[in-house]
Amino acid sequence: MSSLIKVFIYFIPILITFLIGAFVFLKDRKSRINKTFFAFVIGIVGWLSSLFLFYNLDSPSLVLWIGRLNFAVVLLMLYYILQFVIIFPRENILIPKLSKVTIKIWFFILALLTFLTPLIDKAEIITGPSTRETVYGPLYPFYVANYLFVIIFAIIIIVRKLKRTKNPKEKRQLIFINLGIFLALSSGFVTNILLYSLGYYEAGNYGALFPLLFVGFTAYTIFKYRLFEIKIILAQILVLVIGFLLLSQIFVTSSLFMRVINTGIFILYCLFGYLLIRSVLREVKLREQLAVVNKELKKLDEAKTEFLSIASHQLRTPLTAIKGYLGMIDEGIYGKISGEVKGTLHKVYDSNERLIRLVNSLLDISRLEMGKMEFILKKVNIEEMIESIVDELHIGAKKKGIDLVFEHPKKPLPEIKIDEEKIRQVMLNLIDNAIKYTYKGSVTIKAEKIDRGEDKIKISVTDTGMGIARKEINEIFKIYRRGTGVRLFPEGSGVGLYVAKKLVGIHKGKIWVESRGKGRGSTFYVELPIKK
Ligand code: ADP
Repeated sequence: MSSLIKVFIYFIPILITFLIGAFVFLKDRKSRINKTFFAFVIGIVGWLSSLFLFYNLDSPSLVLWIGRLNFAVVLLMLYYILQFVIIFPRENILIPKLSKVTIKIWFFILALLTFLTPLIDKAEIITGPSTRETVYGPLYPFYVANYLFVIIFAIIIIVRKLKRTKNPKEKRQLIFINLGIFLALSSGFVTNILLYSLGYYEAGNYGALFPLLFVGFTAYTIFKYRLFEIKIILAQILVLVIGFLLLSQIFVTSSLFMRVINTGIFILYCLFGYLLIRSVLREVKLREQLAVVNKELKKLDEAKTEFLSIASHQLRTPLTAIKGYLGMIDEGIYGKISGEVKGTLHKVYDSNERLIRLVNSLLDISRLEMGKMEFILKKVNIEEMIESIVDELHIGAKKKGIDLVFEHPKKPLPEIKIDEEKIRQVMLNLIDNAIKYTYKGSVTIKAEKIDRGEDKIKISVTDTGMGIARKEINEIFKIYRRGTGVRLFPEGSGVGLYVAKKLVGIHKGKIWVESRGKGRGSTFYVELPIKK
């Protein structure tokens, strides 16, 4: 085996494994998970190192001791794997204390027997520069059975944990880390136990690669779920590796001058590395704090939404009652009323209507935010819908002296599947706004089918009103946002377009506005997909 291959299958795995283990440990020295993980990593490093020495030393007595050490270290790894499986990510499977102590004693005795007696490893024969042949002791089958038993035991624990874990993130963590452990263990079994005992002695060399599988999976989990805060780990690994390189430069160079320069560079670098790691640590801490604050804000926001929902519910009933009584007074059920009172009554009626609409919008917002809004889809004829809205609003428009026109499409529009009430609310809001924000001129509604790409229906509401400044074009769709220049219209609340955008979005449609600027009118567009 060339020394280059050796570097790849021994030293790189040893270095990577150790660095990852060490940094996980340093991140939180008190965490049991991190400590156990590190102990396991030390086991891997010990195993890889002894494996390397086993194949590369040629003193027969040393090779025997190292061979036995290698067998014993496997037990250490198995022990910590078992521990890790039990406590990661939470210790939610109870193993009695007595059993834990028994497991510990069991592994200890087995390790002593393995290392000190010929019961498992009787002799090692050096058959070539990097080939060895093991003469197994009488207890070797027992040793293999133990290995398999640990794998089975761990599988049982993991399967039970998976069953108990509801949190999908935790589930994935479990799967990934454990998959890594298993691939490593079972491939190790194939190369270093099965193939090796069948006489393929060289195969043992490649067993060295498998811990990398485990490290790979763990690294992936770290990346994906930030299990042990990857940023810190990466920064530290990088700083350390470069540090080692610089340090080695000091010893490699022979001239004193270069040595002094290199030492200077190294010291400067250490300072820089320290500052870098410190700043990363700080950022991570800040982010953790931010996450906590965020959580609290979210809670507050939910409370607000809930309050909004309850309050608007309570408001709706009396407002509807008022509307009913006003109607009855207007009809003269409680006696004749004078024209002047009637005029005032209508104003009260209008204000009440506006309040009802506002309360309904607030209720919509809270339902949308709590995800409690229900949608009933059915086939709807858009033309008929617009027609009925125009009927409803045309008296108001006429009073203001505004022409309200619906230009029918040349070809009849196909029916589309939507929640009729919600889309009606959107269109009512757009047309009502167009009338509200127009002093004189007209409001024109058009509807057409668009065949380009996906089939859609596009409705536009064009007015000759106050228009919208360019920088406000997107702003007005945000909640409680009203354009500048609406001071003349105190009756608005800035929620209509917000709700409209949400409702259209849920229908997988688009809503937007175009305007040539202040005082030059605007056109609102709604596009809804036609689903076959
Ligand atoms: P409201 O009309 O209650 O203020 P909306 O959410 O319906 O709330 O509209 C938000 C803002 O968008 C309005 O305050 C207004 O500034 C602007 N706006 C909406 N429709 C028009 C329109 N047709 N012409 C000009 N501005 C409009």
